[in-house]
Amino acid sequence: METPKYKRVIIKLSGEALAGDQGFGLENSVLDSLAEQIGDIIDLGVEVAVVVGGGNIWRGVAGSKRGIDRATADYMGMLATVINALALQDILENHDIDTRVQTAIEMRQVAELYIKRRAIRHLEKGRVVIFGAGTGNPFFSTDTTAALRAAEIEAEVILMAKKVDGVYDCDPQTNADAKKFDRLSYIDVLNRGLKVMDSTATSLCMDNDIPIIVFNMMERGNMKRALMGEPIGTYVGS
Ligand code: UDP
Repeated sequence: METPKYKRVIIKLSGEALAGDQGFGLENSVLDSLAEQIGDIIDLGVEVAVVVGGGNIWRGVAGSKRGIDRATADYMGMLATVINALALQDILENHDIDTRVQTAIEMRQVAELYIKRRAIRHLEKGRVVIFGAGTGNPFFSTDTTAALRAAEIEAEVILMAKKVDGVYDCDPQTNADAKKFDRLSYIDVLNRGLKVMDSTATSLCMDNDIPIIVFNMMERGNMKRALMGEPIGTYVGS
């Protein structure tokens, strides 16, 4: 059997990624493709936790510009991530993958509350744990949630699933000369303001030495390649 380089991982799925080409809501083909790819890495014996974003439904900053108090708008964003978490859970279960959703805000009729030890126990039993409701605190992001949960459950890497194949020095969609980075240090990301994750999340990864792999999730097999240690996308580390 193939031996993966990483045994316990966090996959960060942004809301934008889940929306596919439509830009809003959820696209089934994306969810199905993700479920297939997650199934492939579960078969390798990798323990998988997923942090879902909510930007396909609601973003706190955007909401606060419409006259909604920022903290309230952020709680709305956290609720949006729970909608995504539940959708992903059902699609994964349709693919015969055992899952648990844990939320950082208690909503016991809907999901379990996040408890670190319990999350680890699920992972050890081969269940995919989906973390919803971010950190449970306004003014944070789901990128920061991914960094925080990775530190807590001792994940060895964060896989940032994107619709582009890595980190570029400028937007590759508008600039034909955009250069892709194969490898970056955390400090490079912070100093250059590169859009890997927000700065709070990057700092948390740096302080806890958690590598980040940014890769194109639309290409089937990439998740497995990343976990096998193949050089895909952009690797961010120390
Ligand atoms: N959010 C928050 N605290 C958290 C995580 C998320 O307040 O710990 C809110 C915030 O308003 C954010 C929204 O939830 O805009 C959706 O999360 P995010 O923007 O990180 O989603 P993504 O960009 O990954 O889709």
